[in-house]
Amino acid sequence: MATFNLLLLPGDGIGVETMVEVERIIDFFNRSGRATFNTQSDLVGGAAYDAHGVAITDAAMDKAQKADAVIFGSVGGPKWADVPYAVRPEAGLLRLRKDLGLFANLRPAICYPALADASSLKRELVEGLDIMIVRELTGGVYFCEPKEIVTLENGEKRAIDTQIYTTSEIERIAKAAFDLARKRGNKVHSAEKHNVMRTGVLWKEVVTEVHRSYAPDVQLEHILADNCAMQLVRNPKQFDVIVTDNLFGDVLSDEAAMATGSLGMLPSASLGAVDATTGKRKALYEPVHGSAPDIAGKGLANPIATIASFGMALRYSCDMGAEADLVDQAIAGVLAAGYRTGDIMQSGMKQVGTAEMGGAILDELKKLAG
Ligand code: NAD
Repeated sequence: MATFNLLLLPGDGIGVETMVEVERIIDFFNRSGRATFNTQSDLVGGAAYDAHGVAITDAAMDKAQKADAVIFGSVGGPKWADVPYAVRPEAGLLRLRKDLGLFANLRPAICYPALADASSLKRELVEGLDIMIVRELTGGVYFCEPKEIVTLENGEKRAIDTQIYTTSEIERIAKAAFDLARKRGNKVHSAEKHNVMRTGVLWKEVVTEVHRSYAPDVQLEHILADNCAMQLVRNPKQFDVIVTDNLFGDVLSDEAAMATGSLGMLPSASLGAVDATTGKRKALYEPVHGSAPDIAGKGLANPIATIASFGMALRYSCDMGAEADLVDQAIAGVLAAGYRTGDIMQSGMKQVGTAEMGGAILDELKKLAG
């Protein structure tokens, strides 16, 4: 039986509550003999700052480096609003992304039929929606230098951000997108602005070449990023995988996500390069939402985003696609049965808290797994 080492980093606020529900599901898979998950936990974010004065310790980073997957909750909160910038809670997540080399951010936008009416788009546009946005996470305009605000001789200020992409950066994200598409609908849209940006010209050239040499079996379409934004609200089901740079990915993934309803429903994965000797890749899985200080500690948080993030770990780090499907079906099943946390509550449905929602998903999983 396959064995996997997981590092659980619940963090702060509702991250702590939603991770408990993930642990129950891990426990179920261990007992059912489908795999052996060895779990370790550690502190991150404000919790790590309170205990150690840093947002993540070297010891926790060492565990993350050795793990098959890191499952991350959420960090931050008003308690740490005034801590020094270098050790603020978010610095823990940034160090994980940087030190693990997590260059590919995967954000699925899935619309469960039971929640189609909660979308800001019409039911027929979003029911059954299943898109994956692959965003380049470590390069581009958020990181490149020069990045500054300077005062000119005439007293005016001038701000500069710089967008740089190299061939190898584009190649590795394109390959990640083609690999994913092969496990899904076999179609990739590459979104850039080659009409006005030099990085867009190179992006298009490199993606085209990677497609020719690495993935001719996958359907590739190029789309201008602004048109992609428009098409996401006009006819989102035309997309399967969208690959794009850091800046456009930030915007397009939030836009696609809103088709699905609530922040409490959105998982994500961040992947590193495949190690040539082991065939494994570093990976971190986390809900898109934050620590939700307004509801933390009250047992109200929706655990679905964190549970679905663990589902992504099953699929992308453990090669357990069938079990990942079971987790997704269990979530769809409890939603169809009318269970709702406060953030996705609709009239006539049954309002439940974090533990009850987690328990209902676990019960459904047990039924589905036979
Ligand atoms: P947030 O995502 O924490 O909350 C936004 C709103 O959505 C709140 O009203 C919250 O109650 C609700 N919400 C979020 N997740 C929910 C869930 N699972 N179930 C039910 N309701 C949910 O964003 P924010 O309020 O802007 O930020 C709060 C803190 O979280 C800040 O310190 C911020 O820096 C941090 N943050 C952390 C991450 C991360 O850990 N990756 C991401 C975003 C924000």
